[in-house]
Amino acid sequence: MYEAAVYTGKWDQMMSLPAGSAVQLPEWAPALQQALADHRGRDIVWHGALAGYTTFKVGGRAEAIVFPQGREELSLLIRSLQALAVPWVILGRGSNVVIVDEGLKGVAIVLGRDFAEIELVDEAADSILVRVEAGCSLAKLVSWAVERGLAGLEFAAGIPGSVGGAIVMNAGAWQREMKDVLVRVSVMDSRGAVSAREAAAMHFAYRSWGEMKGTIALEGFFRLKKDDPLLLKQMCSDYLQRRKQRQPQNMASGGSFFKNPPGGRTAGQLIDQAGLKGCTVGGAMVSTVHANFIVNTGRATAKDILELMGMVQKAVQDKYGIALEPEVKILGLG
Ligand SMILES: Cc1cc2nc3c(=O)[nH]c(=O)nc-3n(C[C@H](O)[C@H](O)[C@H](O)COP(=O)(O)OP(=O)(O)OC[C@H]3O[C@@H](n4cnc5c(N)ncnc54)[C@H](O)[C@@H]3O)c2cc1C
Repeated sequence: MYEAAVYTGKWDQMMSLPAGSAVQLPEWAPALQQALADHRGRDIVWHGALAGYTTFKVGGRAEAIVFPQGREELSLLIRSLQALAVPWVILGRGSNVVIVDEGLKGVAIVLGRDFAEIELVDEAADSILVRVEAGCSLAKLVSWAVERGLAGLEFAAGIPGSVGGAIVMNAGAWQREMKDVLVRVSVMDSRGAVSAREAAAMHFAYRSWGEMKGTIALEGFFRLKKDDPLLLKQMCSDYLQRRKQRQPQNMASGGSFFKNPPGGRTAGQLIDQAGLKGCTVGGAMVSTVHANFIVNTGRATAKDILELMGMVQKAVQDKYGIALEPEVKILGLG
């Protein structure tokens, strides 16, 4: 049995918790620490609270949260976790996830500021190719492009999240998606090996990049067209304005909760027409502004959100015979 402790410093520093706040380290903790001991690493947070890493602001703890410092470390981490049979999941900015209240078995890996580079790699007469690491915020990339008069990503103005999350979710708005500007993606597989995938040969679909579970998006290469920065700025502020009018403001959420089903009517229209706006379970509510947003009114638990999700699905199924599929990823079930 390992002594109750939390490790919040470098790989090789173990800090004991104050008396009375003991937590049980997972049995694989010493082996993971040993595997990573020779590496310069950022923090590991044992028994780390995850709610703060999500825009819904709900969810339990992971046995550990790890912030790898660069690819080599990420690869070592993945290989070590595979060898120890410890489950893991990547978190970007947590803007499309509900983490269950019971938390996550294993490790939540956060790709943060050590995976945030933007680099211009090639310039043609009318376009450029830019390489962007997965941990970069999408908002930062949009501003970066617009300021330089590079068109293609305006649709993403106002979509929170990381570039990696946006690639994996094939995030989109206003009839445009990430795949429309993506040329290539560097990925890491579940053995820690890195390879390149041409976007055209990948199976991007509605809110999906079509890759295997366990594949990590490390960076994307985007082809952007040269254009007038003022025009692009105007387009972005129009999109932002439309979001302000149509979406709940200053409420914790995961954006659109359900995918739009085939058949023409959006999930929001179906939920609205089923009379569900304003419906609540505990602290979770179907937004009164946009019916496809479930919002956390302040005290919601993941259980509230998932119960409300089930109620909405049942009501829409009963009324229209349509099964709504969540767009948000529910982490920690099964
Ligand atoms: C207010 C609001 C508005 C939104 N509007 C839109 C919108 O208009 N259009 C839209 O498409 N979405 C929208 N979203 C949803 C969300 O912002 C996007 O899906 C975003 O791209 C998710 O990025 P993320 O970094 O937050 O991913 P996360 O939520 O952290 O992760 C989402 C999924 O991707 C996986 N993942 C994340 N990063 C990686 C990686 N590098 N490699 C492998 N897997 C990874 C995670 O494991 C998880 O399964 C909105 C959300 C909010 C809160």
